[in-house]
Amino acid sequence: MALTSRGYVQQDVVVRFAPSPNGLLHMGHAYAAIVAHDFARNKGGRVLLRMEDIDIQRSRPEYTDAILEDMRWLGLIFDEEVIYQSRRFKDYDAALQRLIRMGVTYPCFCTRSELRTVHEKGKAEIGPDGPIYPGTCRGLSADEAANRMQSEAFCLRLDAEKVAQQCGRLVWNDEYRGEQFADHAVLGDVIIQPKDTPVSYHVAVSLDDARDGISHVVRGKDLLASTHVHRFLQALLELPTPDYVHHPVLLDETGYKLGKSRNSASLAILRQGGIDGQKLADQLRENIFPVGITLSKD
Ligand code: GLU
Repeated sequence: MALTSRGYVQQDVVVRFAPSPNGLLHMGHAYAAIVAHDFARNKGGRVLLRMEDIDIQRSRPEYTDAILEDMRWLGLIFDEEVIYQSRRFKDYDAALQRLIRMGVTYPCFCTRSELRTVHEKGKAEIGPDGPIYPGTCRGLSADEAANRMQSEAFCLRLDAEKVAQQCGRLVWNDEYRGEQFADHAVLGDVIIQPKDTPVSYHVAVSLDDARDGISHVVRGKDLLASTHVHRFLQALLELPTPDYVHHPVLLDETGYKLGKSRNSASLAILRQGGIDGQKLADQLRENIFPVGITLSKD
C-alpha cells in the first residue's frame, strides 16, 4: 500500500467522469471518459459516473440512456451506482442559502439582450469562457434589490472581489501545471443560481466532488478556468480540495474544441454505425485520432 507524495494511499484514488446529459456525447467526451477512467485504474483507484443533469430545461432521459450505452460500448466500467445530480437539489439549495447568508452573493436582473448590448459595445472584458459580467447589479442597494426581486426574474451571482477578500490566498495542485493560485478575476462574478435552473454547475460540482470523495478531478483543460471558482467555493463552504488533472482536449480541423454545436459526430451515430467501441477506445488511448481531429498542445 504505497503512499503518494500527497499522502494518498493508492486505494484512496477516486475519480469521476461527469457528463451533462444535455445532448449526445462526441469523441471529445469519449477521450475525457477514457483519461479519467484509466487514471483511476492505473492507480488502483475507483472511478464514478456522475450525470450532471441539473439543467432542467435541457437534460433529457434519452441523453442519459445514450451516455450509459456509450460507456458500455467503449468498454468503460464504473464503480458503484450512477450518481444523478438531479437527486441532490436539496443539498445544493442548502449551500446556496449558506452563501447568501455569508453576504457574498447578489441578485442580478440583467437580461441576456442587455448583456449582449454591453458586449457589442465592446464594454465587457473577455475572459476564457466569453464576456465577463460587467458588475451592473453589484452595487444595487438592499432595498432596491428586494423590491425588484418581487416582480423581476433574477439570477444569483457570486461577488468575486468580496469572496477573494474573505478567502485570502488559495492554491490547488494541478498534476500537469503544478501549484496554481486561485484568481477571482478569471471568470468574475459567476452565476451560482441561474434564472431558470435551481443551481449552477459551479456550486453543484464543488459540493459533489467533496461528497463523492473525489481525490483527483480529471477533466479537460477547457474547465481549468472554472477551477478558480471551485477553489473559492470550496473555501467558503469548507469543502476539501482535490488534486486536479486538466488534460488536453480534442480539436476539430479548425482548431476548436470538439463540440455539439460544431457538428462533431456523436458517439451514438458511430455506435449505431457498427464501429467497434473498444477498438476506438484503444486508439484514443494511443492518441490515434480520426482524420481532422487532433489533441491540443497542453
Ligand atoms: N458536466 C461538465 C461537462 O459536461 C463537466 C464537469 C466536470 O468535469 O467538472 O462539461
